Amino acid sequence: MRVLLIGGGGREHALAWKLTREDPDLELIAAPGNPGIAELGECVPVNVLDIERLEHLARERTVDLTVVGPEAPLEAGIVDRFRSSGLPIFGPTRAAAEIETSKAFAKQLLLDEGIATARAEIHTRVADAKAAARRFGAPVVVKASGLAAGKGVIVCKTLGDADSAIDDMLEGNRFGAAGAAVLVEEFMQGEEVSLFAITDGRTFVVLPGLQDHKRLLAKDHGPNTGGMGAYLPVHLGYDADRALTADPQAAERLVLEAARDVFAPTLRALAARGRNFTGLLYAGLMLTRSGPKVVEFNCRFGDPETQALMPVLDISPRLLDLMLAVGRGEPIPGFPVPDATGTLPARTSARISTAEAEAACVTTVIAAANYPETPRTGDVITLPPIEDGVFVFHAGTARDSEGRLITAGGRVLAVSAVAPSVELAQARSMEYVERVRFEGKQYRPDIGWREIERQMQRPGAGASRD
Ligand code: AMP
Repeated sequence: MRVLLIGGGGREHALAWKLTREDPDLELIAAPGNPGIAELGECVPVNVLDIERLEHLARERTVDLTVVGPEAPLEAGIVDRFRSSGLPIFGPTRAAAEIETSKAFAKQLLLDEGIATARAEIHTRVADAKAAARRFGAPVVVKASGLAAGKGVIVCKTLGDADSAIDDMLEGNRFGAAGAAVLVEEFMQGEEVSLFAITDGRTFVVLPGLQDHKRLLAKDHGPNTGGMGAYLPVHLGYDADRALTADPQAAERLVLEAARDVFAPTLRALAARGRNFTGLLYAGLMLTRSGPKVVEFNCRFGDPETQALMPVLDISPRLLDLMLAVGRGEPIPGFPVPDATGTLPARTSARISTAEAEAACVTTVIAAANYPETPRTGDVITLPPIEDGVFVFHAGTARDSEGRLITAGGRVLAVSAVAPSVELAQARSMEYVERVRFEGKQYRPDIGWREIERQMQRPGAGASRD
């Protein structure tokens, strides 16, 4: 089996690890890959947007499957191109990927289908957008409709902030074409959970939920980033009275509810619009007092959530087999097909597990100096030896002319640690992170803090902690 993996970040390193672990004979080619992925396969320096050369590479090396990591090549139509050439590829077409690449399209679909989400209006004119902000009242959220590298969402505390954000996007051209239309959206209060579903467009399997940490500094302060860490399990859901509750059963019910009320109708709606979605559909949910609401969709695996999920994902059939089926345009194996009424069965066969009964994983991102502004690059990295239960995924790293590992991007490394609890996994991740050396490294010491607080508040937690 030969797989071409497109991308070169921590997410792709984690996928490369999982796929080669499932099939040790797997021949992995990555474009462009990174020094971490280079230990698992061959890296070929082709840009993720150079679709022509990627297609040539897939053909020349007779790969059985291409897996697309980042959203940019999906938006550029890599799946459409490979499909029309008969090459198996895991990911959605350009039209289906609009569920992420056009927030205006995604919002309209949610509103049309009655899927719970924040109220919002889509505008291209400054005056209309500002009037919408006044109708919602502060706090209010202003979003660039297109892809903006995770930076196109501004949560505005005041109407003055909203006005500036609207001016910036519509007049200041801050995000270029991506900001030519803006969403003005009602602010939602609550905790967020990320859910992934692998789908052939009809049937799907939902993977265990995660929580990520977007802010740069501890306790969720500081500027927004691409993500400073992630963890699972997230034991959060609703009780019978619709109150938020922190227990594993409620979390399981939440996944089933999201399968029924979010994933199934969204996939059905996409298919009905001629945009059958294949690949990985990511739903960011806000757990509000009136139930879960969709914050956003992504059309690919999350980063750094994937680095937390892969070390503990227990899935049958294997991820590789699911990807292969989806990539070939076949129904995903092991899951029932829709019945005569077209009802989508939702099964969550994926579990978190290791040898330990209850496994947790905490991923801490180590970022370069000056991230998320203009990160400094070229600093030499020293990695301590890796211990059991610790996974070091490369993101912004490179080799210099002498072969030394150096920083080469904003998020440099993701250190995932597996342990029986989130608290222990956090400690294990921290223990390693503190010993990684490079100039100006930044990280959050508190990834998973919400779950740790929840566990401390659970009945009986005090007694067992002493
Ligand atoms: P997005 O790129 O749409 O996921 O937005 C990035 C982050 O902004 C989300 O993860 C939320 O933390 C926050 N956010 C987006 N929309 C809202 C909203 N309507 N209410 C509150 N927070 C939001």
